[in-house]
Amino acid sequence: MRLQRTLKQQVSFEGIGLHTGRNARVCLKPAPRDTGIIFMRKDKDLAIKASAGYVTDTAFATTLGYNGAKIRTVEHLLATLAGLGIDNLIIEVYGSEIPILDGSSMELTSLILKGGIAKQSKKRPYIRILHPILLSDGQAEIAALPYNGRHITYRIHFNHDLLGEQNLSIELTEENFAVEIAPARTFGFLKDVEYLKANGFARGGSFENAIILGEGGVLNGSGLRFKDEFVRHKILDLMGDLSLLGYPIYGHIVANKSGHTTNLKFLKKLLAHPENWEFMAEANHVETPAYI
Ligand SMILES: [Zn+2]
Repeated sequence: MRLQRTLKQQVSFEGIGLHTGRNARVCLKPAPRDTGIIFMRKDKDLAIKASAGYVTDTAFATTLGYNGAKIRTVEHLLATLAGLGIDNLIIEVYGSEIPILDGSSMELTSLILKGGIAKQSKKRPYIRILHPILLSDGQAEIAALPYNGRHITYRIHFNHDLLGEQNLSIELTEENFAVEIAPARTFGFLKDVEYLKANGFARGGSFENAIILGEGGVLNGSGLRFKDEFVRHKILDLMGDLSLLGYPIYGHIVANKSGHTTNLKFLKKLLAHPENWEFMAEANHVETPAYI
């Protein structure tokens, strides 16, 4: 196990939301140990913990909400924090949706690494999987298996000439996240765009922030960043959703055709079966000042 971490200094970014199409500014501020990840909607004077219990919607993005106020599309920011091991943070949001940036976590990853990560004086508890937990949800499945490390295996399958089946199995290290997962962009099908826009989704969507697939292939002039960019992005989404557990999972997550809705159902099942996991015991540690 490692020490808890926050940022060395505050950093901010802004841009349009994928679904609302509206501009928002976000400020990431260091927080004391054991704070967790807290979103604050500054315009509504509201704080919402990044926790499965506050998820109000999982259609085409993960939305947190409380008392009618929402923060949409939190998953890429949460995945970045999980991927880089940031445990404690205040996220001030001036708007209702986290900016989509280029559709990946690449800019957020560089922003955080440039600002610096601060170790804190307390161990980060993990949840260790003791017995397999499986959720089947229509055609989608997710399982957590005992494993001596942190690993994700993901399979996607779409009825599309270019997409078809993609598989990736990857150890969850910070380096793997930054290099192999963070640059993978969100994607959508051209045939769905009109429907999505008519129903209040993807109003800020463009070639600048998503891979758009037509019948014949990728429509973005710049092409793909990885041949299997799609499955990599699905791992990014899953990492963001799983972080809503509040503790990193020590084990092997295997997902098949999953999405935000199934990811959240899986978290609820895991929480409902504490006999299948345990908190990893804290090792001895010496008390040192916070923000070393
Ligand atoms: Zn995504």
